[in-house]
Amino acid sequence: MLDKWIRFSAINDPGLSPQSQRQVLVCDQLAIFAFYTPIPYQIFYIFFDLAYFSEIFIINLLFMTIYAAVLMLNRRGDYTTARTLLMVCVSGHMLVSSLMAGAGVGVNLFYFTQAGVLVFLFPTLRWPALIGLLFVCGALYLSTQLLLTAGVAITPVPKPWLGFMYVCSASGALLLLITLLNLFRRQIENTEDELLATSQILQVRSNTDPLTGLANRRAMEGALKTEWQRLSRHPGPLSILMCDVDHFKAYNDRYGHDGGDECLRQIAGAIQAALERPSDLAVRYGGEEFVVVLPATDEQGARHVAEKINDAVRKLNIPNPQASTGIVTVSVGVSSVGPQTGGRVDQGGERLLKCADQGLYLAKKRGRDQVVYMSCCTLT
Ligand code: GH3
Ligand code: MG
Ligand code: MG
Repeated sequence: MLDKWIRFSAINDPGLSPQSQRQVLVCDQLAIFAFYTPIPYQIFYIFFDLAYFSEIFIINLLFMTIYAAVLMLNRRGDYTTARTLLMVCVSGHMLVSSLMAGAGVGVNLFYFTQAGVLVFLFPTLRWPALIGLLFVCGALYLSTQLLLTAGVAITPVPKPWLGFMYVCSASGALLLLITLLNLFRRQIENTEDELLATSQILQVRSNTDPLTGLANRRAMEGALKTEWQRLSRHPGPLSILMCDVDHFKAYNDRYGHDGGDECLRQIAGAIQAALERPSDLAVRYGGEEFVVVLPATDEQGARHVAEKINDAVRKLNIPNPQASTGIVTVSVGVSSVGPQTGGRVDQGGERLLKCADQGLYLAKKRGRDQVVYMSCCTLT
């Protein structure tokens, strides 16, 4: 309900800063409430004695028209005029109503409601100015309360009804203040939710390769660091595969850059599909190079996954006339560390990557389209 109300009164002006947008929203909501608040009084005047209360009835209608005009001004982008008009009219409305019906009706209690929302309506105002405005509200309340007694009132509300109307006004002023503060709290919560969602989207984007949808190098570095930290507490195996598309330059030359991109997307899909565990991470490491991080996987398991990927890419059956096989293939370098793993967190993953890269280099040298395992210990 509150969310619907916030969305209804929100103004979509991209030129406004978030702070100004909030302030316009508050002004709009206050104008809507100011428009509706006189309605119970109007109903009372109609049923009690419309002829007797005709003047205040018409005055209320006039002020309601001004509140509607405030909404229009906000829609037209005249925000400062709208806010000033609203504040002046709300103060004047309470003053005139008290003069007409007497302060005993309690309409002047709405000065407290007005004072309670000033900080939201004037968010950029300095403290002295804000205290000045609060002082004006207080002075208006006191002067109406002390000066506009039943004897001075032009069309005073008769005694038996006065108490009833005072209670209604007091409850209305309090309820309105609570509702407005609740609305503002909800707006703050909504903004927090939006910020959180945006930061989550940004985080996912900054860790994702836009071409293939796989994790990118930044995500891999984070994952490797976390994995190495975990291994230092709970020793276990960890493996890495480094895959490189064979003769991809020739493929690009033949089918163009767009054709090459589509081929990379298909290969990325095949690599992702070959992974069985949710903890396995497929990464686009660079142009046509992919890395797979395999936590809690030893040499045997890593070799198995590497063969599976090599096979899956071959099965895509993408023609590459320049390759000796006639199709697009990948070479894969594999390396693993065992449970005795140690060393510095920031160096461990890097060392493993270098080993897998050496395996890849050997795979290329031996004729491509194959898997080569490189023990991490042999690296100098
Ligand atoms: P090798 O079998 O030795 O790996 O040969 P290769 O031709 O695959 O190796 P090389 O490193 O010479 O060429 C890689 C090519 O990958 C170069 C570039 O045209 C292409 N490439 C790199 N990034 C992208 C990309 O994002 N999209 C496309 N379409 N091509 C890319
Ligand atoms: Mg390459
Ligand atoms: Mg290549």
